[in-house]
Amino acid sequence: MTLKDTHRQILLTPGPLTTTASVKESMLRDWGSRDSAFIAITAGIRNRLLALANGSDTHSCALVQGSGTFAVEATLTTLLHREKHHPLLLINGAYGRRIQKICEIAGIKHSIYETPENSPPDVSILRTQLQENSHITHVVIVHCETTSGILNPVAEIADVTAVENRKFIVDAMSSFGSLPIDLTEISAEAIIASANKCLEGVPGMGFALIEKSALTKAKGNASTLSLDLHDQVDYMDRTGQWRFTPPTHVVAALDKALDEHDKEGGVPGRGKRYAENCQLLVDGLQKIGFELFLEKSLQAAIIVTVRMPTDPAFEFDKLYSLMNDKGIVLYPGAVTQEKSFRIGCIGQIYPEDMQRTLNAIQQSLGEMGISKLQPTS
Ligand SMILES: *Cc1c(COP(=O)(O)O)cnc(C)c1O
Repeated sequence: MTLKDTHRQILLTPGPLTTTASVKESMLRDWGSRDSAFIAITAGIRNRLLALANGSDTHSCALVQGSGTFAVEATLTTLLHREKHHPLLLINGAYGRRIQKICEIAGIKHSIYETPENSPPDVSILRTQLQENSHITHVVIVHCETTSGILNPVAEIADVTAVENRKFIVDAMSSFGSLPIDLTEISAEAIIASANKCLEGVPGMGFALIEKSALTKAKGNASTLSLDLHDQVDYMDRTGQWRFTPPTHVVAALDKALDEHDKEGGVPGRGKRYAENCQLLVDGLQKIGFELFLEKSLQAAIIVTVRMPTDPAFEFDKLYSLMNDKGIVLYPGAVTQEKSFRIGCIGQIYPEDMQRTLNAIQQSLGEMGISKLQPTS
């Protein structure tokens, strides 16, 4: 049986994203959670995710049911003990602020170093903060802050954090599988991501690659039952099974998605296609007359934030629905500094889709009565 991809949507969003017909097709079988073949798939996924970040020797892969935020919350509340730990949160967007909220709700005392949404943290300021505040135990950062699409300098921050003898936790949700992270080169206690972004699986599970020694020490830390990754890993290591009902179809889809990731050339292959998508998109948007929120050097090939045109004939809601009619889904803006909208370049999207998107934008502007966009003021 083959599924025709007649309903292909071009989702240019931060996720969920466009997936292949074969990934969707892999979900047609119902698996029992104790089925030995399903147990083998679970084990295989854990090993493959570790291998993608070169973490097989040092880290353990914790899978967790739910969206990406569940994985972030599970990791932080498993690793950070309310009395013993005090993270410094590096924030430059909504996902950093979400980490702050997780800490607040869990009662984890924390400090914040916040920079504007178009600026990465300054490594020398971070160094000083760590030197002057001995109570800080961890540094937490978002790799690509999907709010704007900014690339944070994870390797430099990892180095300073390691030199200052602190632990490092990275929310790599929107970058894992496309922007490289090598755990033999950077020292990180945990890297967190999900199935449905650059890995091009379907939504429903997240994961964290956690230093084995940290996970052992985290026994009893958790403030919730279902998000306790120490127990999740312990149970999975002993039985091969998930604690509580596994998202069986999502797991099968991720297994297939990882095959396809492999076939594309792994992280470099996937990263290359996204970089081509992004380059085409950025060049094309600027040619049409749009202005971008980020400086070129800070733009990760994940999602692009477009400054809202001040042209009186331009209305984003209208563009959104005109594009939607053409099977292309754009995304509203999330930066707080100014009005904007976003266009993603990840998922099962190819340069020809980007070209089609640019043509559709040009056509939609025409439908809105705009022949030439006026400069954004
Ligand atoms: C998508 C994303 C998340 C998780 O969001 P969910 O909606 O819970 O899947 C977390 N951090 C970043 C940086 C993300 O891009």
